[in-house]
Amino acid sequence: MSDLLRELYQETIIDHNRNPRNFKVLKHPSHQAHGVNPLCGDDIVLYLTVENDVIKSLAFQGKGCAISTASASLMTELLTGKTIQDAKKLFTQFHDIVTGVESSQDELGKLKVLAGVKEFPARVKCATLAWHTLQAALENKANTVTTE
Ligand code: ZN
Repeated sequence: MSDLLRELYQETIIDHNRNPRNFKVLKHPSHQAHGVNPLCGDDIVLYLTVENDVIKSLAFQGKGCAISTASASLMTELLTGKTIQDAKKLFTQFHDIVTGVESSQDELGKLKVLAGVKEFPARVKCATLAWHTLQAALENKANTVTTE
């Protein structure tokens, strides 16, 4: 990773961890799910309001390490206003960059800096927890999803 990217990676994670966006409970979500990453102790609940296949609002609550919190925060920012189809496509792209697979990533915006996590394989599950939880919420799975 270049020094510039490393700096950006650290800054973005610190910023979103200290001041997570959309960190709240949605009152009447159409979808919600609980996700845990037992390896690290990350634990989040994700709330969504979906109308006509568009994610109208997206919020989360919980506790976890800086990477899981920052990733969830960045994800809620990126996906608000997106269609379910776009969200699924972005999940694939995001999964690719954090696991080191080359792919088109133009639409990921700020989330691209999380590509830095691929240098720390143990943290990939922290970075993808919010996305796995999103997938469970969209599939209306009642159970808690776990990265294990
Ligand atoms: Zn973690």
